[in-house]
Amino acid sequence: MPKAVYPLDSTKSFTDQQYVGHNRWHPDVPANVTVRPGDVFRVDCREWFDGAIVNDDSADDILNAPLSTVHVLSGPFAVEGAEPGDLLIVDIVDVGQIPQEDSGPLAGQGWGYTGVFAKSNGGGFLTDQFPDAYKVIWDFRGQTATSRHVPGVSFTGIVHPGLMGTAPSAELLARWTARETALIATDPDRVPPLALPPLPDDAILGTLSGADFDRVAAEAARTAPPRENGGNQDIKNFTKGTRVFYPVFVPGANLSMGDLHFSQGDGEITFCGAIEMGGFIDLHVDLIKGGMTTYGVSENAIFMPGNVDPQYSEWLAFSGTSVTLDGEQKYLDSHLSYQRACLHAIDYLTKFGYSAIQAYMILGAAPIEGRLSGVVDIPNSCSTVYIPTAIFDFPVAPSSDGPHQVDPGMGVPMSQG
Ligand code: ZN
Repeated sequence: MPKAVYPLDSTKSFTDQQYVGHNRWHPDVPANVTVRPGDVFRVDCREWFDGAIVNDDSADDILNAPLSTVHVLSGPFAVEGAEPGDLLIVDIVDVGQIPQEDSGPLAGQGWGYTGVFAKSNGGGFLTDQFPDAYKVIWDFRGQTATSRHVPGVSFTGIVHPGLMGTAPSAELLARWTARETALIATDPDRVPPLALPPLPDDAILGTLSGADFDRVAAEAARTAPPRENGGNQDIKNFTKGTRVFYPVFVPGANLSMGDLHFSQGDGEITFCGAIEMGGFIDLHVDLIKGGMTTYGVSENAIFMPGNVDPQYSEWLAFSGTSVTLDGEQKYLDSHLSYQRACLHAIDYLTKFGYSAIQAYMILGAAPIEGRLSGVVDIPNSCSTVYIPTAIFDFPVAPSSDGPHQVDPGMGVPMSQG
């Protein structure tokens, strides 16, 4: 096992650990561990809500999910010698569940969850169709996930970090805040909101205290969106074996990570989220001096995905175009066409006895592929969602026999709020 430089005690909360991480982006959050180029090291990561979501058959914890507390990130890690303009090479050497003997109370101890936020507290990709809060618990055996809430389906997880990134410079942070604040101003009362402004409430900023804490808490960026520093990209292919090249904006790079997923479908359409869990990640770091200019990497990280993938070879695919459910034509709107592709798939799966929310949860958690199949054929973009047929324990393609009927079981818990 690589040197455990960032251990988390499963019995303690995030703020009571030996090293206290952070849940906002800011250049002045001090690094709490320093590593060297060439080092391999182990980092423990807490599930993004720090244990607020529990293994039961109620969705009330999702309804009341403490959104101001996310994401609890491990780090920052300073890399010796890193300077603005460098590229930080990060290899994901290994990533997995919280090492333990039996299943335990924390997500990542033999189980994980997928939630759908209520429209009034977070919302999500299909929030107009699913305005309530829902939760599904997945049980892990080896690499396989199954659920008492979604019968007839099992799939191979592709464990990955949803979030990893370097600290922004003060100048970059100011740009983020300006452009996101301008967007919010176009419709400030929207539910759910267009973006999340800086929020001092529940900010965790490592070792900062006093006046420094107050200043940074008022300025720091929320961690929900992906940005130039990488961040919450939710790329399911960040598996073991992945190499990422992050732009460096501050001395030391100040790398942080968290939001581990056991599995995820492209788009993480359920928003809360993939199959969420805590665990460990083993990393190797190195530097390319001046690499941002050499390779033109200023917009965002580039990466080489890992070669650990489920061996799915047969797919059932659904397409959607940029026409609203009310029949209004939109111009090349790929967000809308992906929504329509997913709604098409959900409708299809309900013919097999699934509830619509069970089908939605399958698309959020299983390793489905989402594609921009066409973006030029005016006025319709064409998005497609590919579902691996082997995740179902019955034939899922259309046939003259008609759809097999699954027993929906206890179904998906929905909040009573
Ligand atoms: Zn996540």
